[in-house]
Amino acid sequence: MIDKMTCIQCPAGCELEVGEADGRLEIRGNECEKGVEFAQNEIRDPRRNLATSVPVKGNATRMVSVRLSGPVPRDRIFPILDAISGLRPEPPVRRGQVLISDVLGSGVDVIATRTINE
Ligand code: SF4
Repeated sequence: MIDKMTCIQCPAGCELEVGEADGRLEIRGNECEKGVEFAQNEIRDPRRNLATSVPVKGNATRMVSVRLSGPVPRDRIFPILDAISGLRPEPPVRRGQVLISDVLGSGVDVIATRTINE
């Protein structure tokens, strides 16, 4: 079986072909070794980070950008987005501030990536 995927480790976006032979992964199309690691992770344990923004408490038009402190398994992204959607942090919010600790038991935090003073 051959899987096709696009490496997202850099803007080059190499188109990878991943097959299996004798119990080993064979990867073609990568311009560098990062593509090998990316393809192996995609097959064995695909993970993603996410970035979005939420309104601050009391001002529906003032937004603070947030992201996760690290990547999570891909199938956790939408439940975590749901949990983030109800977030309304109260200003002041500091860049790097943890807004949700260990979100949904994922082991990663939701952190602010922008400072909002009021
Ligand atoms: S294989 Fe290397 S060069 Fe190609 S997209 Fe991935 S990181 Fe970039």
